[in-house]
Amino acid sequence: MWWDGDMVTSLVVHPGSSVDLSKRDPGSTPGAPGGREATEAEFATQHARLADLQERLWAEGTRELLVVLQAIDTAGKDGTIRHVFRGFNPTGTRVAAFRVPTELEAAHDFLWRVHAQVPRAGEVVIFNRSHYEDVLVTRVHGLVPAHVIRARYDQINAFERLLHDEGTRLVKLLLHISYDEQARRIEERRTDPLKAWKYKEADLRERSYWDDYQAAFTAMLENTSTAHAPWHVIPANHKWYRNWAVTEILLRLLDEMNPQYPQASL
Ligand code: AMP
Ligand code: MG
Repeated sequence: MWWDGDMVTSLVVHPGSSVDLSKRDPGSTPGAPGGREATEAEFATQHARLADLQERLWAEGTRELLVVLQAIDTAGKDGTIRHVFRGFNPTGTRVAAFRVPTELEAAHDFLWRVHAQVPRAGEVVIFNRSHYEDVLVTRVHGLVPAHVIRARYDQINAFERLLHDEGTRLVKLLLHISYDEQARRIEERRTDPLKAWKYKEADLRERSYWDDYQAAFTAMLENTSTAHAPWHVIPANHKWYRNWAVTEILLRLLDEMNPQYPQASL
């Protein structure tokens, strides 16, 4: 299994295991080649390899990669996308963001809008939020009954199983920051003119549901980490570590997939 290695082992949620997020230190840096400087240096060289693998996946044109990013507000979904995927060929790569369902989306089953965004053959798609919102924000705010949430874990596993059987490899990443780090980042957004555009009053209101979100994350991790679509919890207080770890995980999976340029018929 691509996820069953040394560094990755400490970040992966082994299928069927119980999860205690309070025991996973958001400020830790497991497997990093060193401190900030050494890790950023290695991150730079990781890029060329990752970009090469993406190009080959697109050229091969038969298999797909779906990266699911979930996190509490300010944990760094946007920054991860900006940094980790910046070397990718925009042809063959796409970001799909999931917001509050529209009237049309809400009139369908919760996977309807999600299925429409999965990668086509050869493509890499990054989900900025995902179908997991339907067991997270909905649970925290009681938008749907508990028995519906419980059923959704199985429905999600079946859906991801279908994608996997059809040739899509899934990487699911939960960016994990601390309560104090979130306070710092919200304050930064409130006061830094270059970050103010990201600031929403709602972030402060959502912050008061911190414990409920941690509980919802825990239930999600325990119920939907599977051998074909395992979750990784990424310590994300240090952005330099977050970028390195996410890239490392993608490299390991793509190395295992080992996509090939099609035989040239010259
Ligand atoms: P942002 O990612 O900052 O643009 O915010 C998107 C918002 O949409 C977040 O507050 C999410 O919790 C919310 N959202 C995304 N998916 C769903 C969903 N299925 N049901 C309810 N709210 C959702
Ligand atoms: Mg946001």
